[in-house]
Amino acid sequence: MSRVYLTGAGPGDIELLTLKALRVIKEADVIIYDRLANPDILKEAKNGCEFVYVGKEDGHHIMPQDQINETIYQNALKYNKVVRLKGGDPFVFGRGGEEGAYLKERNIEFEIIPGITSAVSVPAYAGIPVTHRGVAVSFRVVTAHESPNKKESQIPWDNYKTDDTIVFLMGLHNLSKISKKLIGIGKPSNYPCAVISKGTTKDQKVVVGTLGDIVEKAVDMPTPALIIVGEVVNLREQLQWFKGND
Ligand code: SAH
Repeated sequence: MSRVYLTGAGPGDIELLTLKALRVIKEADVIIYDRLANPDILKEAKNGCEFVYVGKEDGHHIMPQDQINETIYQNALKYNKVVRLKGGDPFVFGRGGEEGAYLKERNIEFEIIPGITSAVSVPAYAGIPVTHRGVAVSFRVVTAHESPNKKESQIPWDNYKTDDTIVFLMGLHNLSKISKKLIGIGKPSNYPCAVISKGTTKDQKVVVGTLGDIVEKAVDMPTPALIIVGEVVNLREQLQWFKGND
């Protein structure tokens, strides 16, 4: 009986892989992986393991999701242990739910192996806690990728009037719109904001600014990158610990 492991690869630093993920990677007959999963992880696979790349570039899918679903299914018909390796956590904007549902409909057994999501760990490597006593009591993780075909924004901007920390994934190309919208709902233009690129890796870059100047400051930041908005950003001054490439 074959089994598919919908597995989180963590945010980049290979040591942020879970022991469970490492075990199934070592045992896998085939690994179906994304662009965001650190490719060094694949070196842990056994001899003879097959690799299938179904990469995605920040929402621009090289392979459409329904084709990815079908690829996983076809591999499950062929192999016993199928690892579907995804950046971060498979259920945080990872479409792991769709993949699981597709397999369930076809009576393929699967397991979910959660991963360390970039939404929390990338700010942590930049010395920014997503919550902090007296500063932010909650945080939101938001996708800022919007359908290019839709004129109206799908993001419920009015929900963001609170002081929650907001982490935007897939949003770098929308940074100017995001900062304008947040100022538009009443946040001051000197409200703290940071962009973190290639977080948790040796190429990590962080720029800290405000809603008013972040677009200008983050101009050349490479992807993958996330945006974090909130007073917690100021804590980096005390908590910066990881030396990336800045
Ligand atoms: N499932 C993933 C998120 C997939 S969405 C997770 O749990 O982390 C992809 C987005 O995640 C990217 O566009 C970027 O915003 C963010 N991201 C992933 N890895 C990152 C990294 N190392 N540094 C900065 N942002 C990252």
